[in-house]
Amino acid sequence: MNDSPRPGPADDDDTHTGPGLSAGATVSLENVALRYGDPETGTLALKDTELAIESGEFVAIVGPSGCGKSTLMKLVSGLNPATGGVVSVAGEIVTRPIKIVGMAFQNPTMLPWRRTIDNVLLPLKIVRPYRENFRRDRARNTARAEALLRRVGLHGFSRQFPWQLSGGMLQRASLCRALIHEPRLLLLDEPFGALDAFTREELWGVLQALWLDRRPTVLLVTHDLREAVYLADRVVVMSARPGRIILDRRVDLPRPRSLDDLFRDTAVQLVHDLRARIEHFQLDDIVGDAPEE
Ligand code: ADP
Repeated sequence: MNDSPRPGPADDDDTHTGPGLSAGATVSLENVALRYGDPETGTLALKDTELAIESGEFVAIVGPSGCGKSTLMKLVSGLNPATGGVVSVAGEIVTRPIKIVGMAFQNPTMLPWRRTIDNVLLPLKIVRPYRENFRRDRARNTARAEALLRRVGLHGFSRQFPWQLSGGMLQRASLCRALIHEPRLLLLDEPFGALDAFTREELWGVLQALWLDRRPTVLLVTHDLREAVYLADRVVVMSARPGRIILDRRVDLPRPRSLDDLFRDTAVQLVHDLRARIEHFQLDDIVGDAPEE
């Protein structure tokens, strides 16, 4: 298999993969279940969950609140072990937290006493194998962090503290932090959920550009169906709890995409279909919950 996990970036890791080539990792969930708490009576968050993601694919996960989207992300990252089935990343079964992943969440949780650049550099300081050479590679790492910050429009803000940045700027910095170690897999859990509509739409463009640079595999959880369609190659819909994949749709829009593309018939129809499917499940939830198993 040519998708075996690689060690950390090599010394010449400033090279990019180039357009069309992916630096990503495959992801697969086979018959996955996750029950929180008591093995018999605890909350069954996921059941019979099947998902296969190709290297370099951008997949968005949408679904009603509480259906298990964040749970699925934790399983893929290895933060939670599955209680049933098999989760694999880059051809390896996930049994503990994986190293080839970058993450960003709705709340960017920057360390307030560290400058923006030092927050961005944090993964290299604490995660193996980078931390061993952190001091030695400091100048090169800093240059890389500065380049990333420039890439997301934060040129000149690297010396600012997080509390001096707006919500949108913090989220840009958070994306840089997620990407600083050039992860093969990027897990994004509603990264733009707390931002105003204009900032959010601007950041879709920023994220798309970052992804096109190196083509890591991306799993994005979002409540925003337009965001899913703008960014993803595939949008998967999860059922109400216990969550499983009930719809998997390809987004047939050329790249790079723009906001105007969201007004194309393909995009409008897809958003409509996705919404109809999710509303159907939310209605089921209100009318009467099906038994868990
Ligand atoms: P989503 O991200 O789709 O909103 P989550 O994955 O956060 O859903 O949660 C799925 C279900 O699992 C919810 O019913 C939630 O209350 C429950 N849940 C999540 N985390 C825990 C936990 N640590 N312990 C017990 N139940 C949990």
